[in-house]
Amino acid sequence: MQKSREVRTAMPPAALAAAGSLWMASASNAPLWRELHALGLLQAPGGWLLALSLAGMVASLLFALVSLLAWPRLLKPALALLLLASGGAGYFMWTYHVVIDSGMASSALQTDWHEALGLLTPALAGALVLGALVPAAVLWRLPVRHRPWPRQAARNLAAAGAGLLLFAALLVASFQPLASTMRNHKHLRYLLNPLNTLYAAGQLGFGKTQAKGGLLPVGRDAQLAASAQRPPLLVLVVGETGRSGNFGINGYARDTTPELAKAGVASFRNAWSCGTHTAASVPCMFSPLGREGFLARDRDSENLLDVLQHAGLAVLWIDNQPGGCKGVCDRVPNAKTSSLRDPVACAGGECHDEILLSGIDARIAQLPPERRARGVVLVLHPMGSHGPDYAQRSPRTFKRFLPECTSAHLPDCSAEQLRNAYDNTIAYTDHVLGSAIAWLRSRSGDFDGALLYVADHGESLGENNLYLHGLPYALAPDVQKHVPWITWLSPAFEQRNGVAMDCLHARAGTRITHDNLFHSVLGLLQVQTAAYRRALDAYADCGVH
Ligand SMILES: [Zn+2]
Repeated sequence: MQKSREVRTAMPPAALAAAGSLWMASASNAPLWRELHALGLLQAPGGWLLALSLAGMVASLLFALVSLLAWPRLLKPALALLLLASGGAGYFMWTYHVVIDSGMASSALQTDWHEALGLLTPALAGALVLGALVPAAVLWRLPVRHRPWPRQAARNLAAAGAGLLLFAALLVASFQPLASTMRNHKHLRYLLNPLNTLYAAGQLGFGKTQAKGGLLPVGRDAQLAASAQRPPLLVLVVGETGRSGNFGINGYARDTTPELAKAGVASFRNAWSCGTHTAASVPCMFSPLGREGFLARDRDSENLLDVLQHAGLAVLWIDNQPGGCKGVCDRVPNAKTSSLRDPVACAGGECHDEILLSGIDARIAQLPPERRARGVVLVLHPMGSHGPDYAQRSPRTFKRFLPECTSAHLPDCSAEQLRNAYDNTIAYTDHVLGSAIAWLRSRSGDFDGALLYVADHGESLGENNLYLHGLPYALAPDVQKHVPWITWLSPAFEQRNGVAMDCLHARAGTRITHDNLFHSVLGLLQVQTAAYRRALDAYADCGVH
C-alpha cells in the first residue's frame, strides 16, 4: 500500500527539471540582478519586465537542457552538479565582482586543491550550503516516476521543445530592450548563471580539439653570438599578480621596493600584459606570436624557452606555484619547490618565495656542463601576490604595512587593510628580487649576471568594487593589465651586449607589452635566429647591435 501511494505522489521528471531551473535562474543569478540594479536598468521603465523575461529565458533554456537528461540515475546527479556549479559561480561573481568566461573557467579547472582551500571561507561554505546543497538535497529526496524508455524519450524531447519554444517567445517579446541592454553592457552576458559556465566549458572543450596537430617548431636555427670570457646567467622571474602602480620604483607613494631601488634596477613603467589571468598570460608571454597572433593561433608552437635551448643554453624552470608553468616548461628541465620542505621558508605548509633561491647553486651544477658553459637561464615562478589570501604570501618579518587583511573574503576587509596586505606581498617580492641580485653578484666570477622580472597580469583591489583579476581583456580595468617590468644588468653583462642601464633608465616611459618579451630576451642573450624581430626587442635601442 505504502509503495503504491508513493508511486501516485511521485512527480514527473519535468517537474523536478522545472523546479531546479527556476531556482538557478532566480536565486543563483543574484549577481546579475544586483548588476542590473547598479546600472539603473531595474529602475528604468520596463526594467522589471526585462529582468523577468531574462530570468524566464535562462530558466527555459536550462529546462530544455535538463529535460534531455531526465533519465533514471542521471537527472538528479545532473541537477545537483548544475546547482553546485551555479552556486559556486554565483558566490564568486557576487563577492569579487568577477565574471565567468572561458579564461576564468580554465583557471578554475587548473586550480589545485591547496589553492582552492585558500578560497574556501565560511562565507563560501555558507553560500554553497544554502544556494546549492539545500536545494539539491530537497530535489534529491523527491520521489520521481520515470516512464518506460520509449515514452520517457518522447516526453523528454517534448519538454525540451517546450522549453525552447518558451525561450524563443520571450526573446521575441523582449527583443528590442534586451538587444540594446546587452549591446551597451557586454559584461552582462558573462553573468548569466550557469549558462556562462556551460558556454565557457563548451568553448574550452572545443579549443582542446582545435589545438591538435602537433607543435610548430620555432627558432631551430638559433645560435649564440661569439662568446665572451664568462657565460651569461639570466634570472627571469615570471611575477604573479603584480600591479605596476604598487611598486615604489614606479612612483608609488609607499616605498614598497627599497632593495630594488638600492640595486639601481631599470623599470619600464608603461608595460602591459597579454591576458588578465595566469593561464592566458604565461603561455602568451613566452610565445613568439604576440597577443593577437597567440589568440588567433590554430596550432601551438614552441616558445622562448625552446629557442634558448635550441641555441645551446642551459634552461631551468623552478616553480613555487602549485598551478605550475601552464605548459611553458614542458620541454626544458623543471623543478618544483614543494619537494624541499624547508622548515623556515615552508613553515606554514606553503613555501614563501625565497625558497626559489634555496640550493640554487646545486641546481645549476646539475645542468649539462656543455650547455652551462654557454650560459644559463633560470626561470623563477613565484607565488608573488596571488590572492585573495594575500597575507599568506609574505612572511611575518615582512609585514611592513599594518593592519593587513587576513580574510580571503575580501569584502570583509577595509580598503586600507586590503592595500596593506597586498603591499606587503610587493615588499616581500622586492626582497626576493633583491636577494636574487645579491646572489648574481656573488657569482660574478663565473657568470655575467642579469635579472628580468615581468609580472603575468595585475590585480583589482576593490576599485569600483572589483577584486582579483581575470575579467575579459576588453572589459578589464587597467590595474589588471598594467604590469611591472624590471631589469638589472651587472656591469659585465652591460659590457658583453652593449645594453647600458643608463639608457634603460632614460627609456622608462616607453610603452611595451608582453609581445616584447620573446624578442627582448633573445636580444639580451644575443641569440641569433630568424624568429627574432629587432623591432619588438625592448632593449634593442639601448644596445650596440
Ligand atoms: Zn597570474
